[in-house]
Amino acid sequence: MSAKLISTEPATGATLWSGRISDVNAEVARARTAWPQWAAQPLVNRIETLRRFANMVRAKNDKLADLIARETGKPIWEALTEVDSVINKVEISISAYSERTGQKRLEGAMGDRTAVRHKPHGVMAVLGPYNFPAHLPNGHIVPALIAGNAVVFKPSEQTPAVGEMLVDLYHAAGVPDDALRLVIGGPAEGKALTGHDGIDGVLFTGSAQTGIAINMQLASQPNKIVALEMGGNNPIVVWDTADIHTAAIVVVQSAFMSAGQRCTAARRLIVKDSLYEALISTVKGIADRLIVGEPHSQPAPFMGPVIDNQAADGLTESFLILMSNGGRPIKHIARPIEGRPFLTPGIIDVTDMPERPDIELFGPLLQVIRVATFEDAIAEANNTRFGLSASLIGGSPQHYDQFWANVRAGVINWNKPTNGASSAAPFGGVGISGNHRPSAFYAADYCAYPVASSEADHARASIGIGLKDIDTAAMGD
Ligand code: NAD
Repeated sequence: MSAKLISTEPATGATLWSGRISDVNAEVARARTAWPQWAAQPLVNRIETLRRFANMVRAKNDKLADLIARETGKPIWEALTEVDSVINKVEISISAYSERTGQKRLEGAMGDRTAVRHKPHGVMAVLGPYNFPAHLPNGHIVPALIAGNAVVFKPSEQTPAVGEMLVDLYHAAGVPDDALRLVIGGPAEGKALTGHDGIDGVLFTGSAQTGIAINMQLASQPNKIVALEMGGNNPIVVWDTADIHTAAIVVVQSAFMSAGQRCTAARRLIVKDSLYEALISTVKGIADRLIVGEPHSQPAPFMGPVIDNQAADGLTESFLILMSNGGRPIKHIARPIEGRPFLTPGIIDVTDMPERPDIELFGPLLQVIRVATFEDAIAEANNTRFGLSASLIGGSPQHYDQFWANVRAGVINWNKPTNGASSAAPFGGVGISGNHRPSAFYAADYCAYPVASSEADHARASIGIGLKDIDTAAMGD
């Protein structure tokens, strides 16, 4: 009998779901068998099926949001916005498919023509993270299916219930059972899937550590297309602004939304010396008021728990390590409910720390760095191996031009939070935040490959040079 995976609700510790660990070989084999028929369907049929999927999600809006909220711990209002993103992804992916991978015909001289068309890769492995267990895998699955790929999807081991419900909805909408398979499991099943010979591509969203491991695992398999969407150590810079209160709200939203469990969350607040006192006391004042609570509790919480006790322990420990290495606490991170992974937001000034760790602390923990000049602010913003998102709050248009030109990140915002990116734009990072295959609107690019074809209605050919004369050839010299 195969082993079981159990999913528990972070907010309550109650068991939410349990299921069997999948047989990766069997699931890949089924997807391989189904792929040719799915790929051979007219594009309009696949589009129609995915539109039906969007309608089915719409009809199950509350049920899916409730499951997301329970399994991740995020507030129900936030889970509902995740479901909206799942629905909207379908129309966005249909536009993206035609805009990014549409057909083109190039006319040449004498009726010559070259066609450019796109073909699906085959069977794609989609690996998802726990923080957006529906929206992010869906952001790979929908474009992959529209392009004509079959998919084997492994949700995070922390959110298998949402993964299963998503797959049930695709199937109910008419995606053939075998064209989309679900793999339940953890890192071992993930590794078996990404390395499997029956997989043509890997579409991964998760930590840089896992993304790098996948990249190494596939180093000798250039035949597989690999898209890696990874984490960040994102900066938010606050410069000249008369509106400290609004700047502080944007900082709080950037750092603490989703309990800091967003890849785009601001991890480092870089602030001009002269604004420091006013900004930090306002940010702290707002952070003190944030309600941390269960997904369905009233009044509605701003944020729920982090995913599990191990993550909560890791974050409180990181706060202590920063403190013991020269960090000055502004607001202590705390565990308000014993035994459950709720955390209050933590803020720590690390300006005087001799060596700051360049790691992603995936939770509600904000590090503050004060600087004297705008050049220093940009240097601090770039003082990371990651490069996912960066925001400038305040400053002049000239400051923003300089920030945009010199900061290395895939998402660069002005007077907007570091998080909350649009699905209608490309989304991805540089450095160790990605491998130059941005997702969201550009996901279409890695779900199909271009084929160039020179085509004519009839063969017409002649050799005008380098041939022996017919008479000479006949003499048999
Ligand atoms: P994770 O890397 O631990 O796991 C992601 C997935 O990879 C899971 O399904 C896991 O089972 C699987 N996996 C683990 N080890 C594997 C291996 N060796 N081979 C193959 N698969 C393996 O990530 P997580 O903790 O679930 O998610 C949080 C992380 O995701 C954060 O770092 C966050 O920044 C990142 N993230 C990135 C984006 C983005 O779009 N750039 C979006 C959301 C989250």
